[in-house]
Amino acid sequence: MYKKLFIPGPTHVVDEVLEAMAMPMIGHRDSLYSDMHGEVVEKLKKMLYTNNRIYLSTSSSTGMMEGAIRNCVMKKALMTDCGAFSKRWAQIATANGKQTEVIKVEMGEAITPEMVDEKLAQGGIDSVCITFNETSTGVTNPLKEIAALVKEKYPDVLVLVDAVSIMAGAEIRVDDWNLDVVLAGTQKAFAMPPGLCVVTVSDAAFARSENMENKGYYFDFVALEGKAVKNQTPATPAISLINALNVQMDRILAEGVEKRFARHAEMAKYIQDWARKYFGLYAADEKYLSPTVTNITNTRNISVADLNKELAKRGAMLSNGYGVLKEKAFRIAHMGDIQMEDLRWLTSQIEEILDL
Ligand SMILES: *Cc1c(COP(=O)(O)O)cnc(C)c1O
Repeated sequence: MYKKLFIPGPTHVVDEVLEAMAMPMIGHRDSLYSDMHGEVVEKLKKMLYTNNRIYLSTSSSTGMMEGAIRNCVMKKALMTDCGAFSKRWAQIATANGKQTEVIKVEMGEAITPEMVDEKLAQGGIDSVCITFNETSTGVTNPLKEIAALVKEKYPDVLVLVDAVSIMAGAEIRVDDWNLDVVLAGTQKAFAMPPGLCVVTVSDAAFARSENMENKGYYFDFVALEGKAVKNQTPATPAISLINALNVQMDRILAEGVEKRFARHAEMAKYIQDWARKYFGLYAADEKYLSPTVTNITNTRNISVADLNKELAKRGAMLSNGYGVLKEKAFRIAHMGDIQMEDLRWLTSQIEEILDL
């Protein structure tokens, strides 16, 4: 039986978007394709408040994280480790022969502009990699403030942002916040199937790429740009997914991006209140609680695996704690096309199962 997904990706996809995947196939050098590609990019620009270049990458987010590192990091990047996904940035950089300097905070804590300032002041760093929303802990880092600090004091340092579990669920003002690269896969707050990644690239990031050696082939920004100006991609794109994204962006803009972000904030508050009542919140400082996913401390020592088995019988699935947090915490995602009524239903099911 299919389950409604309350996990932080892939998330629940509505029928209208699934049906858009079943379009007749078109050629990717046909004007039918470039019209669609152009439409999607224009709609994304509205949601992200940007005039930067936008590429549609047929890959998961991890692929484009590697792309961002290879196009932008010259020698050494600052890594902001606050959980499993921010660790991945460092793993990718190391795997590509780049040096790293690491800020590491305890899981559940956020990265602050002061921490970033202290490291950048030492010099020798050309890029900062940030995970806007650390999906493993449910913490949203103060991206706007960090980027403002970097751009004010270290204007040559690029800001590379993994916005995977938050883009389309909360405000990201790419241009106002001066973000050089911002990327997100479609299977999280976009509420789409996986396989496609959206990335914005600033002039400064693009200039870096133009002068970069050994940046690989598939994710080369210059190659992507060469085709993007014609609303195409260098290699065959995931045409069905891009059609689905076109439909989904219409739905997002029809809801209204601000309304959509407010809905996410409301859903987050509901789950946070519920978690406070029956369990505990994992985030160390409530100021940084995520609008899209809540990590709930398992204060009652329940079996999260058993809870999920019972929920499965009722048609739902949540997430166990990530990695070392397995059974110590569990996560409820409240993003994309999940609605308040879904969350009310989910919490009532959990209360019934656990006899709360
Ligand atoms: C899910 C996730 C990723 C990885 O995405 P893939 O699509 O599996 O490559 C990276 N960063 C964050 C913050 C995520 O939530």
